[in-house]
This record gives sequence, structure tokens and C-alpha cells, in this order.
Amino acid sequence: MANDELQTCVRCGYVADKDDRYCIQCGAPLKNTCTKKKTVLHKGCSKVNKPDAKYCSACGTETLFSEWGLL
Ligand SMILES: [Zn+2]
Ligand SMILES: [Zn+2]
Repeated sequence: MANDELQTCVRCGYVADKDDRYCIQCGAPLKNTCTKKKTVLHKGCSKVNKPDAKYCSACGTETLFSEWGLL
């Protein structure tokens, strides 16, 4: 990802705008966010990890890409 204005879908290779959250071609998530949910005990984690991260670098919870089987 050399261009900051664009991002590439890890599943189909579609080049999307950087603000898009899901691929308009295949529906896969474009941001590798942490999946830790907000609970009464924890405020959750919404960290956006590197595209190849299977686990969140901030809290160790599985990332969205890993959950979707994209890695
Ligand atoms: Zn896609
Ligand atoms: Zn996290």
C-alpha cells in the first residue's frame, strides 16, 4: 500500500478509497480492526492493525481479518 489515498482488498484485490470500511466488490472488511467488543467491564478496543496482523497489537484479541479467514 504505497498510496495513502487508496487501500487494497485482501480478498479480491479491489482498490478502494481509503475511507471505505468494506470492499464494494466482495464485502470483505478493508480495515483490520480489533474484534474486542465493548462490555460493561471493558470499553473495548477499536485499534486498526496492520493488514497482516492476526491478533491485535494493543490487546491480543483476534483481528477482523483473522476472524473472516482472510489471513
Ligand atoms: Zn474485495
Ligand atoms: Zn485490541
